[in-house]
Amino acid sequence: MTGSEAAASLACAELAIDLSAIVANWRTLCALHPSGPVAGVVKGDGYGLGAAQVVPALYAAGCRHFFTADLHEAMAIRALVPAAMVAVLNGLLPGTEAIHAAHAIDPVLGSLDEIARWRAEAARRGAKLAALLHIDTGMRRLGLDQYELEALRHDHGLLDGIGLRYVMTHLVASEIAGDPGNEAQRARFAASCEGLPPAPRSLANSSGLFLGPAFGSDLARPGAALYGIDPTPGQEHLVRAPALRLPVRLRARVLQVRQVCKGESVGYNATWHATRPSRIATVGVGYADGWPRALSNRGRAIFDGLPVPLVGRVSMDLTTYDVTGTQVRAGDWLELIGPALPAEEVAQAAGTNAYEILTSLGPRYRRTYRA
Ligand SMILES: *Cc1c(COP(=O)(O)O)cnc(C)c1O
Repeated sequence: MTGSEAAASLACAELAIDLSAIVANWRTLCALHPSGPVAGVVKGDGYGLGAAQVVPALYAAGCRHFFTADLHEAMAIRALVPAAMVAVLNGLLPGTEAIHAAHAIDPVLGSLDEIARWRAEAARRGAKLAALLHIDTGMRRLGLDQYELEALRHDHGLLDGIGLRYVMTHLVASEIAGDPGNEAQRARFAASCEGLPPAPRSLANSSGLFLGPAFGSDLARPGAALYGIDPTPGQEHLVRAPALRLPVRLRARVLQVRQVCKGESVGYNATWHATRPSRIATVGVGYADGWPRALSNRGRAIFDGLPVPLVGRVSMDLTTYDVTGTQVRAGDWLELIGPALPAEEVAQAAGTNAYEILTSLGPRYRRTYRA
């Protein structure tokens, strides 16, 4: 038995990630955005799929712009992509200026205070430092507000020593094509850039790429769509969504199959009772793996192409499925996420979105990567 076979036989569940599907999705998005390059947003450890693997794959395909949420994530990928922009969306935390500069990591500046501290760092070094500027057009979490923009318009000297790579904003509801807020934000962004030093602009996230050419800019910033999350959920978009590939497959091995009599309960607090003699398959995946407890009595898995309902509570390390009428045996695999069971469906059953399902994928899975 080889080492990897041994590892395979030890794991209760396997998370298979197809990097070529992520690269194919990036290329699909590039074709949708003729106005400028397409970045890779790899925050949340590459939406749970592994930034250390995703980033080199995108870089090899030609991606030269990467966004992380924080400085730790940025430092983890900096050396993997020597010639690329690595930018930190969360902005410039006080005290991190020198570290950003030393590692050539670009902060996304979102307040006059952050701008002042970056300007001071540039002055200390006697060198120009690159940065992005984040303008708030409606999200109201991060970014310059209209008063700060006004101050900047009146005094471009506030940006002395700062090389503006991009001015960016973030859409609030881009996955809803008909939301009037999209156009309002686009217009507010264009107006906000007036009177600022000229710089390239960055607008669309994944769903924004499907809002039509007006939402094109000098740099798109998709995350979700790279990882196969549907950027146009149930919407009639101006641009039809091309087929994105699903890079994630999560399978769990059946630990035991047991016979349960009519009337007997399964799991903590006996929230499910068999209404007929039933076969119950237990898999070694639970909320400690990021498998949502909210799926209790709601989710399903796929065996041999057929759905089997999740019954009872999802517990920390175990989940149970009603496999009555199937041939499932111990050691067989149930598919928890895959072509027949996209992350969106899991998310809907759990009352959340596919982003949360993917970014919660836990460390216990045996991860395999296909180049
Ligand atoms: C997360 C994020 C993105 C990517 O959004 P997706 O919907 O995953 O494509 C782009 N821009 C900003 C500012 C973000 O925070």
